Amino acid sequence: MFEGLSDKLSGIFDKLTRRGALSEADVAEALREVRRALLEADVALDVVRTFTDSVQAKAVGANVVKSVSPGQMVVKIVNDVMVETLGSTAQPIDLDAAPPVAIMLVGLQGAGKTTTAAKIAKRLKERHGKRVLMASLDVKRPAAQEQLAILGRQVEVDTLSIVPGQDPVKIAKRAEETARREGYDVVMLDTAGRTHIDEPLMEEMAQIKAVSKPHEILLVVDALTGQDAVNLAKNFDDRVGLTGIVLTRVDGDGRGGAALSMRAVTGKPIKLIATGEKMDALDEFSPQRIANRILG
Ligand code: GDP
Repeated sequence: MFEGLSDKLSGIFDKLTRRGALSEADVAEALREVRRALLEADVALDVVRTFTDSVQAKAVGANVVKSVSPGQMVVKIVNDVMVETLGSTAQPIDLDAAPPVAIMLVGLQGAGKTTTAAKIAKRLKERHGKRVLMASLDVKRPAAQEQLAILGRQVEVDTLSIVPGQDPVKIAKRAEETARREGYDVVMLDTAGRTHIDEPLMEEMAQIKAVSKPHEILLVVDALTGQDAVNLAKNFDDRVGLTGIVLTRVDGDGRGGAALSMRAVTGKPIKLIATGEKMDALDEFSPQRIANRILG
């Protein structure tokens, strides 16, 4: 991901930094090229506009053309604006609540929810020493609960016992009661997905939220779906209320538009990125690190 954008931007910046002096027109031309590169990377139009306006304003404010190395200053400004667009600082999962802290994962079918649930649980166990109980609330897909149990055994994290025929809200209640009784720190709730958003799905999410009172509601969304990922996040946030986003398949060759637009469009932080199928392929989303990856 990001390779295409990264190549284009480094081409633009090489041209810019090779020249000693720059005119206002040179800077304006470079900004037009940056704008085009962002649009081609599938970054949302509004985000691109705000981005280039902000770079322009900062370039004028810093009187870039009069500086000793104007090209490098433009690059630095683009870097700063990109970090801001991505959310400025990393936003880790927040567990600052009375245990058991519920984390609810929502999203479409195939986005990577179940895989991500196990990855997060593993991370919380290994890095934060938390006792985690995972529960699958997916009663639609026949093998979903068993899939989570298998992953749980793989990462050595407990999963709630499966009671055939129990509905998602009852499972959520049982997860909370079990976690409380048995002294777990965190309850990870893996919810059912659909192929697209529909009313029954949103209603189900709202009911689960009401009984579990999750401290984190994370949307798990496939970065390869670009603008659709951003629209999905807006929809889920409007209906269920999100505390953050996990972008999956950042290992794929998507153009990166979702990663770049998500924070600015939804106002919700990307907390984690998933970069593969393995249980360790999960990283904290660091705006600075991603900007470095894009800008080289
Ligand atoms: P769910 O329906 O949302 O629970 O999705 P799953 O967790 O079952 O994931 C669907 C498929 O995507 C599985 O084959 C996962 O191994 C795969 N997957 C999940 N996350 C990633 C990721 O970050 N990168 C890649 N390449 N594959 C992933």
